Amino acid sequence: MKISCLFLLLYYILIYMIKIVYKGKKSKVNEKDIVKIFDDLKKVFSVDISVINIHIFDTRAEFSKEIKRETPEWLVANASDDNLINILSPFAFEKESSHHKNEFIQVLKHEITHLFVHKLSKGNALPKWLNEGIASYFAKQHQKEREPIYVEEDFCKKLGTPKGWNDNVNYGAYSIASLFVVFLIKKYSFNKIKELISSIDKNYDYRGFKDVFFKVYKKEIKEVELLFMDSLNK
Ligand SMILES: [Zn+2]
Repeated sequence: MKISCLFLLLYYILIYMIKIVYKGKKSKVNEKDIVKIFDDLKKVFSVDISVINIHIFDTRAEFSKEIKRETPEWLVANASDDNLINILSPFAFEKESSHHKNEFIQVLKHEITHLFVHKLSKGNALPKWLNEGIASYFAKQHQKEREPIYVEEDFCKKLGTPKGWNDNVNYGAYSIASLFVVFLIKKYSFNKIKELISSIDKNYDYRGFKDVFFKVYKKEIKEVELLFMDSLNK
């Protein structure tokens, strides 16, 4: 009895840290799944976030209005630095996006991962491929059953800035980032990635990042990129 009371108390403390606001009547979701994601990621990243706000929308129009821009069909969620996630509901996934409604939890895990990465990096500017690659890694996206991809040399340089990322988003940027992060974790461990994230400078530029990468991995990033490219067709 005492133990179950304790679990109940812990559950409500966790629920309290995740504030879900439903913006439409059709947007109910399983909140226990969200608590579990939060709890798992907290353990993995060894950092804490006091409160996460999740706003769930039933229409793309309301979602786009909230994030103040037009959103393409594939975009169903976004996370901001103040720990707010805006996301379409499973109902709206099905009706107004290229995603299946069952992908809701996966997409939410991707966004919550961004919040933990942001916390671990102390808000410093992470290269886009690293940020999107880790979020996709934990959400198990863009890794299996994918189209063949075209990888250019120096892809970390090209996919580092928001502009470079956006220019390549229709040319396999998510797949390359996700597969490269999987490669880094399998070959050198997740702790190395954590060390990399927590060591980066406030502002991003490729030269500075290259030096930090070398300090952590004791290898030039270009060399590791080539090892990754060799591994792709094996
Ligand atoms: Zn993302």
